[in-house]
Amino acid sequence: GTSHRYVAGRVAELCGKELKDMKVITCHLGNGSSITAIRDGKVVDTSMGFTPQEGVPMGTRSGSIDPTIVPFLMDKLGVTPAEMDDILTKKSGLLGVSGVSSDCREVNAAADAGNARARLAIDILIHDAKKIIGSYVAELNGVDALVFTAGIGENDRKLRADICRDMDALGIVLDEQVNDECPRGQAFELTGKGSRARVFVIPTDEEYMIALDTQTLTENL
Ligand code: AMP
Repeated sequence: GTSHRYVAGRVAELCGKELKDMKVITCHLGNGSSITAIRDGKVVDTSMGFTPQEGVPMGTRSGSIDPTIVPFLMDKLGVTPAEMDDILTKKSGLLGVSGVSSDCREVNAAADAGNARARLAIDILIHDAKKIIGSYVAELNGVDALVFTAGIGENDRKLRADICRDMDALGIVLDEQVNDECPRGQAFELTGKGSRARVFVIPTDEEYMIALDTQTLTENL
């Protein structure tokens, strides 16, 4: 939430608008990942659920799966609820599917070297992120700005391009050349020709938001 709040504020600044007048989708893709739909300055949907387990696959968390997989696996593996929870939170996601690592860089390297499970793990992440972004465009009835942030969102240029590819029907076009060449570590606009939404990469700053909230709380003591 802290990260989404920070990048949503920054994207409004970069667009020269008030967040309350915008429809924004923020993609925090890191070890933990979530995607959020924001309208009128308020979060109207987010991909995490009862726990941070739901949504896109993460480093070691499964993300959304068919709920019936849980009793099926418990029966098949003969594990307790606590052991099943451990599998879903610590042994799934990029790590579980690839069998290589929870670190996206290592999974990418293995996929590039021809490891089919590593390729599948990355493909599931791309597919699920696209699906959630698409559903949020429907929910918001359009989107003014799409933002990528966190370790994967800020650094994995190929993944950003793969997520945004073939989303022009939804008004989202990323400029692949700008995406390839943009400097790291700073906010940058990646909007492509014909895009109705503006696309950005924005480094997150959760520490800044925590400091700001602490200041606000302590000022009112
Ligand atoms: P975070 O939780 O935001 O620190 O993000 C950690 C994730 O970002 C790990 O999966 C890293 O592999 C990933 N990451 C960091 N740099 C890169 C990069 N250059 N390409 C792909 N993934 C990256």
